[in-house]
Amino acid sequence: MRIATFDQRAVIVTDEGLVDIADASAGRFPSSTDDLMGRLDEVGEWFASGETEPTWDLVPDVVARDPRLGPVVSRPSQIFGIGLNYRRHAIEMGMTPPVRPLVFTKFASSLAGANASVALPSTHTDWEAELVVVIGARARRVTPQDALRYVAGYCVGQDFSDRDLQMSGTPPQFSMGKSHENFSPIGPWLTTPDDCGDPDDLRITCDVNEVRYQDSSTEDMVTNVAGLIAYLSSVVEIRPGDVIFTGSPAGVGQGHTPPTFLAPGDVVTSMITGLGSLRNVTTRATH
Ligand code: ZN
Repeated sequence: MRIATFDQRAVIVTDEGLVDIADASAGRFPSSTDDLMGRLDEVGEWFASGETEPTWDLVPDVVARDPRLGPVVSRPSQIFGIGLNYRRHAIEMGMTPPVRPLVFTKFASSLAGANASVALPSTHTDWEAELVVVIGARARRVTPQDALRYVAGYCVGQDFSDRDLQMSGTPPQFSMGKSHENFSPIGPWLTTPDDCGDPDDLRITCDVNEVRYQDSSTEDMVTNVAGLIAYLSSVVEIRPGDVIFTGSPAGVGQGHTPPTFLAPGDVVTSMITGLGSLRNVTTRATH
């Protein structure tokens, strides 16, 4: 099952069109994806049990590029970013892969839909295509063996990063440089685990204009999805709707020779096989 926020309504994305969950269920379910993240099993059972007519006759390929598509969730209680979580990416940044996950946040006001445009705050704004996990149940201290039971679904994320701000302090601090407006597009929709395949074996790519800079697999992660959930939940409570940006593979602009960054008008396409793609166009900063 694929869940999206379309025109500010929670919808199921089917091959025939979009089903408005609140309307089609006659109000049994709420109209916000944020309020549905702990209930997707129930939504799935309801949807499988009856006939529903699409509210919008839009096929997935058209939906994916529609500006009405919002972020999959917009009010997470926590957003976790993970640094240097792919082996080849750690090497290109001149670092050794961390022994313990390197955790920062992307503040929630930076969340955006799949086709959001991004005003560049500096001449060193970089791209990072990432697998994003959305949590579906409240928990503490889950084991890696149990961890995937707490996943509501997966989507594509782009962790736009202002390297100037990220690296400006001593020691560097990540969260502000990754939280400008629209720096955290996620989407195009959430795919539930039963339709996602193995999260540790997904192809992930990022193109800037016509050039493919990132082409990797989640197999290269230092700490895999289950390990990240187990680690995070050993310290904090994970809650329905929480978002994890699981780290970027090799091929970011900073790691390129010579380093390459985004310019106004660039088109950044982030894609994960089976989960869809984001298309974000950059613009000149307005300030
Ligand atoms: Zn990242």
